[in-house]
Amino acid sequence: METKKWMEQAEENILHTYNRFPIVLDHGEGVYLYDMQGKNYLDFAAGIGVQALGYGNKEYNDALKTQIDKLLHTSNLYYNQPTIEAAEKLCRASGLDRAFFTNSGTEAIEGAIKAAKKYAYAKDGTTDHEIIAMEHSFHGRSLGALAVTGNPHYREPFEPLPGIVKFAEYNHLDSVASLVNEKTCAILLETIQGEGGIYPAKKEFLMGIKKICREHDILLILDEIQCGMGRTGTMFAWQEYGIKPDIMACAKALGCGVPVGAFALTEHVAESSLKPGDHGTTYGGNPFVGAAVSKVLDIFEEKKILEHVQEVSVYLKERLEELKTEYSFLTARRGRGLMQGLELESAVPAGEVSAKALEQGLILITAGHNVLRFLPPLIIEREHVDEMTAILRNVLQECQP
Ligand SMILES: *Cc1c(COP(=O)(O)O)cnc(C)c1O
Repeated sequence: METKKWMEQAEENILHTYNRFPIVLDHGEGVYLYDMQGKNYLDFAAGIGVQALGYGNKEYNDALKTQIDKLLHTSNLYYNQPTIEAAEKLCRASGLDRAFFTNSGTEAIEGAIKAAKKYAYAKDGTTDHEIIAMEHSFHGRSLGALAVTGNPHYREPFEPLPGIVKFAEYNHLDSVASLVNEKTCAILLETIQGEGGIYPAKKEFLMGIKKICREHDILLILDEIQCGMGRTGTMFAWQEYGIKPDIMACAKALGCGVPVGAFALTEHVAESSLKPGDHGTTYGGNPFVGAAVSKVLDIFEEKKILEHVQEVSVYLKERLEELKTEYSFLTARRGRGLMQGLELESAVPAGEVSAKALEQGLILITAGHNVLRFLPPLIIEREHVDEMTAILRNVLQECQP
């Protein structure tokens, strides 16, 4: 069946919540994806930050195949070895003490919110606690995650949403401080805002929030779903700031392609919040995803992924800065490591640039207000950065206003 037919069939049967790009992807190898005609695409989106190890990593694939034949699923009523190992490695990598595995980032956020609510409830027996979240944030599409997502366009049709949530201005400590009261149970933010347009938290901002949290026994929840797992050159983006969250949400690259997320907590929060019966999941942390997470964390260590990101990301930043000096409609470059954004003047729509890039064999996505988002697999080499830059330069030339 030809591509056009597949696309028509998709539009007949799949709920239309996405305006998809007009290609049907078939397979992947390394940092390239291939459509049904065999045309290849250099992937600078990595399935939205998921495919940190690229496609077709043999060690990873073999580990999953072995686990499929051994034991795919069992419930959380029993122990299973791969997930025990995965939890130990995630705790070691994060310096947090306890992990709960979920099926997605959204569910990791849900669990983190429940833990914070339970922590506050256990202290004073009331349920009207407040959460401070950030404008332009993104935490997921379920009702709880949507309630803390600072995008009115996503939220409004579904209101009222659960819980009392107040939105502060990102990177403005006073804005956060002015919302704190005796009912505040948690402050929740992305260490680097992804969907909102690639905005890293300023050091003073995050340290200031940590101080507020410590002084008032408020829990700091960091959403590391997009910026975590080595993307910025440390295992988790907050590790560059000299602070530690009370709860961290993680997903996307955690399983490098299998649907898994996690929230991790400090021992103190763990023992004062969710107890047996307070939270659960059927699939979350089954042996299959446990084997994936465990192998991902092993490969990160063996292949020295963090060092590689630190090195290759300098090269990417330099190339993006070059483009910025060449094209005056590129107004800003922001980001850390291999999580980068290039902001464009509104006369040049980022969506148009990414559509044209796709035609020329480059997968790029957008974010926030007219920003091109760069989230390549963490295994990219300089030659891939050069290839991306060459295609993007062509496209920018064409799009010049
Ligand atoms: C993708 C994302 C989520 C939601 O994760 P899902 O796995 O899609 O549920 C939450 N927060 C951030 C920062 C994200 O990038």
